[in-house]
Amino acid sequence: MRALRLPGWKSEPEVVEVPEPTPGPGQVVVKIGGAGACHSDLHLMHDFEAGAVPWNPPFTLGHENAGWVHALGAGVNGLEVGQPVAVYGPWGCGTCARCRVGVDPYCENPAGAPVPSGGGGLGLDGGMAEYELVPDARHVVPLPEGLDPVEAAPLTDAGLTPYHAIRRSWHKLPPDSTAVVIGVGGLGHVGVQILKATTAARVIAVDTRADALKLAEEYGADLTLRSGDRTAEEIRKATPGGRGADVVLDFVGADATMALGAAAARTVGDLTIVGIGGGTLPVSFFSVPYELSIQTTYWGSRPELIEVLDLGARGLIRPKITTFGLDDAVDAYRQLQDGSLEGRAVIVP
Ligand code: NAD
Ligand code: ZN
Repeated sequence: MRALRLPGWKSEPEVVEVPEPTPGPGQVVVKIGGAGACHSDLHLMHDFEAGAVPWNPPFTLGHENAGWVHALGAGVNGLEVGQPVAVYGPWGCGTCARCRVGVDPYCENPAGAPVPSGGGGLGLDGGMAEYELVPDARHVVPLPEGLDPVEAAPLTDAGLTPYHAIRRSWHKLPPDSTAVVIGVGGLGHVGVQILKATTAARVIAVDTRADALKLAEEYGADLTLRSGDRTAEEIRKATPGGRGADVVLDFVGADATMALGAAAARTVGDLTIVGIGGGTLPVSFFSVPYELSIQTTYWGSRPELIEVLDLGARGLIRPKITTFGLDDAVDAYRQLQDGSLEGRAVIVP
């Protein structure tokens, strides 16, 4: 079969012929219907080098996958060949306390996972191929009625990651609150929709690109702001009494966006850094609002994926998708890099 592989660090991916996988005991092979192209893959191609993560190329890209069950290994029950499924992407050890409740991203026994702190498309072969080997059937999640694999694929990361980040701040998002989304790309444009669908917060979207802000507006953002020197002030002005944003979600993670988040946040607010832009935020007692909670989040849990798929199946969130064939995947990443893509690119092999 054909697959889009990352041959090494600091290199471009290429389409090559690889053997078709067969499932061992407890494993499942999924025929890929869609594989999302994430900005994290650009970090893998351009920013990472040996030692940055506990695994190395070569491997097939694509950590945001859905399709149909193709083959079942011995002992797998409850799934049928041909059934539409999403692949839960973070693959932990499966036996630690966190994996047992479906929180594989924070697996406490990474040495016992198929690859430490990774998954398909992140150290192991992912979904930018005709078939993907899923090493444990618990990662295969049946799709609810009304969702096809192309629509479901981005929900497994571009949906699940903002959902997890927003869900943990729900208690800070009552009806008179304000949430800020910085970076309205693949993750951020779904983040705006998740905020609208699951909270009554006022939603402010910030981006450097006019197209991204137009998309945020289409999905119901109450205010959109082009990021610049006065953005923090503009956000404060849009909140009652100028108090600032209750929750800021940074889907970029650069020095400038983290500084913006800290400057725009309210006392006792949340600043959640999701983007892996390599930035840092110096923190001292008086440099950030009192009792601001600052955290990173990584992906989401399996129970949260089921909730996100439900939001998608009911039409409450709808990622904006452009599809590309496997041969055009490199072009999809180029557009993602250029900022000429809206929403999410999904590779249909
Ligand atoms: P994307 O390229 O689709 O979107 C990024 C958006 O940010 C674009 O719209 C871009 O115009 C905007 N942007 C860039 N610089 C900006 C700035 N200074 N101010 C305002 N907006 C700016 O990327 P994506 O696929 O949505 O991923 C976003 C980030 O999240 C990446 O760093 C990715 O690696 C990371 N990510 C993290 C997790 C996690 O679990 N923490 C999961 C997936 C992706
Ligand atoms: Zn574990």
